[in-house]
Amino acid sequence: MLILLEPSATPEQVREILDLLESSGIRGHVNESPDALSIVAPHASQAFKPDRIEPMAGVRRVVPITSPFKLASADAVTARTVVEVHGVPIGGPGLVLVAGPCGVESREQLFTVARYVAESGVRLLRAGAFKPRTSPYSFQGLGVEGLRLLEAARAEFGLGIVTEATEVEIFEDVERSADMIQIGARNMQNFALLRRAGRSDKPILLKRGPSSTLEEWLYAAEYVLSEGNRNVVLCERGIRTWADHARNTLDVSVVPAAKALTHLPVMVDPSHATGRRDLVIPCGLAGIAAGADGLLVETHCQPERALSDGPQALLPSDFIRLVTLAQSVHQALQIPTTTGLWM
Ligand code: PEP
Ligand code: MN
Repeated sequence: MLILLEPSATPEQVREILDLLESSGIRGHVNESPDALSIVAPHASQAFKPDRIEPMAGVRRVVPITSPFKLASADAVTARTVVEVHGVPIGGPGLVLVAGPCGVESREQLFTVARYVAESGVRLLRAGAFKPRTSPYSFQGLGVEGLRLLEAARAEFGLGIVTEATEVEIFEDVERSADMIQIGARNMQNFALLRRAGRSDKPILLKRGPSSTLEEWLYAAEYVLSEGNRNVVLCERGIRTWADHARNTLDVSVVPAAKALTHLPVMVDPSHATGRRDLVIPCGLAGIAAGADGLLVETHCQPERALSDGPQALLPSDFIRLVTLAQSVHQALQIPTTTGLWM
């Protein structure tokens, strides 16, 4: 259930409600959004009728959450979630770009890319230090050395760092270095990793599994949220279909579908969705037009020499073009529908 609180509810009153829930083994999650204080308590309706909670001091109203995604559901909050990463709000009115090479390969490569990413106005750098590769013989990332280089890039260029944790064993190392932790597509249903991410105080970027439904994706988010971490961003990165013209198929329709069901921000990764440099810009723009809160794109200073995902990496000049086009498409969506343009 969602327990809407009076703006004047005191910390003691909130504590009393949480204690009552806990007495039946139910964990309440407090939402302190500036315009509405509330407690979301999954499964509380099994133990309490609304009329047990509603008369309590500080309570305005009790609303049942009928969705199976108790914490990810749009019903569970009074406002959409905005996830802040290194001072960049994801899920607010602005469009957010997260960009970088697929993997950290060397100081020179990372710094070259980070420099033009920063100069383009993008504020979040993404590169993998631990790479989940289809073949065990492919480049697996520089590991901890890669994390050190990412930290150095943050210090040099002021960029926030997004990087992937591929397994529970290395999560703590990644957590120390990153401003946002990516859970990759192949790990979307690695429940131990999701739970660990849920106990982190760093925001989580949760990619959709290549063959996962929207429902499965939201349950994966629920694993993170139910451990206490409320800062989850969803990322559509293409699904497996019978298409043979691209690495995956960008599921554009999942963007508005996800945004209707959940309060979490939704991003689109057109790089892994297509695997082809020439498709990345058009598909990224389609994602923005569909309502994505941001894009995650791969770019490399020398794609032909990249140790992973070179064919989908945008050249620096194409990346700069994407930044401009992305802002234009996003701004086009801001035109109020009341202008009478189509009347
Ligand atoms: C990546 O982001 O480089 C990556 C491997 O992505 P995904 O998990 O979507 O395949
Ligand atoms: Mn990649």
